Amino acid sequence: VNPNSIRNFCIIAHIDHGKSTLADRLIEMTNTVSERDMKEQLLDNMDLERERGITIKLQTVRMYYKASDGIEYELNLIDTPGHTDFNYEVSRSLAACEGALLLVDATQGVQAQTIANLKLAQEQNLTIIPVINKIDMPNADAQSVMQELEELDGINLDKVILASAKSGVGVDNILASIIENIPAPKGDQEKPLQALIFDSHYDVYRGVVLHVRIFNGSIHTGMKIKMLKSDLEFEALQVGVFLPAMKSVDALMAGEVGFISTNIKIVSNVKVGDTLIDPNQPDTEAVPGYKEVKPMVYAGLFPIKNEDQEKLKDAVEKLSLNDSAFIYKQENSMALGAGFRCGFLGILHMEIIQERLEREYGIEILSTFPSVEYRVTLKNGEMLSVNNPMLLPSFEKIAYIEEPFIDAAIIIPMENIGEIMELCQEKRGIYVDMVYLNNKMAELTFKLPISEIAYNFYDSLKSITHGYASIDYRDRSYIVSDLVKMDIWLNDEIVDAFSFILPRDKSFERGKQIVQKMKHVIPRKLYPMPVQSVVENKVIAREDIPPLRKSVTGRGYSGSASKKKKIAKNIKENKIRQRKFGGVDIPQEAFHAVLDIH
Ligand code: GDP
Ligand code: MG
Repeated sequence: VNPNSIRNFCIIAHIDHGKSTLADRLIEMTNTVSERDMKEQLLDNMDLERERGITIKLQTVRMYYKASDGIEYELNLIDTPGHTDFNYEVSRSLAACEGALLLVDATQGVQAQTIANLKLAQEQNLTIIPVINKIDMPNADAQSVMQELEELDGINLDKVILASAKSGVGVDNILASIIENIPAPKGDQEKPLQALIFDSHYDVYRGVVLHVRIFNGSIHTGMKIKMLKSDLEFEALQVGVFLPAMKSVDALMAGEVGFISTNIKIVSNVKVGDTLIDPNQPDTEAVPGYKEVKPMVYAGLFPIKNEDQEKLKDAVEKLSLNDSAFIYKQENSMALGAGFRCGFLGILHMEIIQERLEREYGIEILSTFPSVEYRVTLKNGEMLSVNNPMLLPSFEKIAYIEEPFIDAAIIIPMENIGEIMELCQEKRGIYVDMVYLNNKMAELTFKLPISEIAYNFYDSLKSITHGYASIDYRDRSYIVSDLVKMDIWLNDEIVDAFSFILPRDKSFERGKQIVQKMKHVIPRKLYPMPVQSVVENKVIAREDIPPLRKSVTGRGYSGSASKKKKIAKNIKENKIRQRKFGGVDIPQEAFHAVLDIH
């Protein structure tokens, strides 16, 4: 192929502004997929993604389009994930492109994620084609959207396209503009190989598959290749493209996007953002922008059934093949037995992994509540990283604990500034900065403790702003915090898997709330059982789980009817989702009890 006839691009947009619909329309209008095979919203192809309405893993599709100049162009559309847990992956997929369609809903205008995504694309020096979508809607107001676009830096208003991804109006203009305005890739086929891994997945037939963008040189079947960061050599067993089904080609040339299947066995070695080079050309430079992906949260995953032990081991191994951001290590709990300590990019990522273990591998899981990775300095000068509260040394030995904070750039509508400031302060955030972006939006910068934002911060943010917020996490830093470990004792035995770390000044209140919750979720026995919360060897609170009586349904719970129903449902679902410990059943709900009041 002539690189001049290649265009690599992505679509960036606020959620629901029509990214998937436009992708489908482009695929349809270029006859990439026969109508018979055209499934709705092809790009979001995992069931789970569809249900949650988000794109988790990147999907790439190559299209061919004959333009008015008579030339057939190769268009590579690279999809970007739509959740902040996956921001680094977004940046890597943008790095594989020369241009981006900036899609804005004509009835909604420029929104937080429009701006956040635009910034990411501009950081990669992408050519931006603004598209005002949904002009078929009766309340479409393209004129106002134009004005909002004008207020953003680096937008060429002459290039704005009015379109309806739904009806197809304007989509031919989008195709024409991609060809006219997005630069062809500049790579040099004669130079040594330099390619970017922007994603990877595990395929049962092909093994580890790398999604790559070739910047210089080429890759052909059978070629020996080296991964620069992980310093690993492998062979390209198959080279191909996504149509979107995987299809072999002889070679991928400079400027192209496609996949390589490999003989790589240990997938944790595959790092998104790593550079592929020719092992005979060891001086080839890395593609800039590589970052070591560090988990934000950790949790223990334990099989409910002991006999699922091996199955779980096999499953986490397979899942980590598919997802280099998911890490795991064997762990043991006195209460729950053998399981895995796992690291995740965020809570959504954790939920996805857990759901996949259950749905795809049929393993029922008990998960402990998530923790961040603390830095602990002992009185003897020793320093250690602790992401499992069970392993925190005794408080008598600790000099101080540092907690991970993250710089969060939060884009929100102006009318929500007060409430979001309050939310951030409530979450122990440290205010850094605020700037007005235009006459309806502002960007707040806060240093926020990861432990506070990991769980439901994102949801609060979305709910306060009615979905019109975006958050981008940047640098991580460690700040000294006054933290303690809370242990939960059940029937006079410590349940180690329940332990968690929290700010000292919240320990009294939470200690009380937890035992009250536990009282309701731990199944009763024929005898009464004490449940106690303990901090630094002192009992904070105690409740007694009453002994089992004949009728347990109307047990005087004073919550609302809907809440009661929800709890009843949870109890039903958790019937098997519990493990015995010292003769006591520990349901998943008990772990949620701690989360709920966080
Ligand atoms: P995404 O979240 O950006 O991927 O958005 P989707 O492509 O899933 O679209 C969100 C909703 O907007 C869906 O219900 C689409 O059918 C609808 N939609 C997308 N484009 C258009 C359009 O041009 N016109 C109209 N009327 N609806 C659209
Ligand atoms: Mg979508």
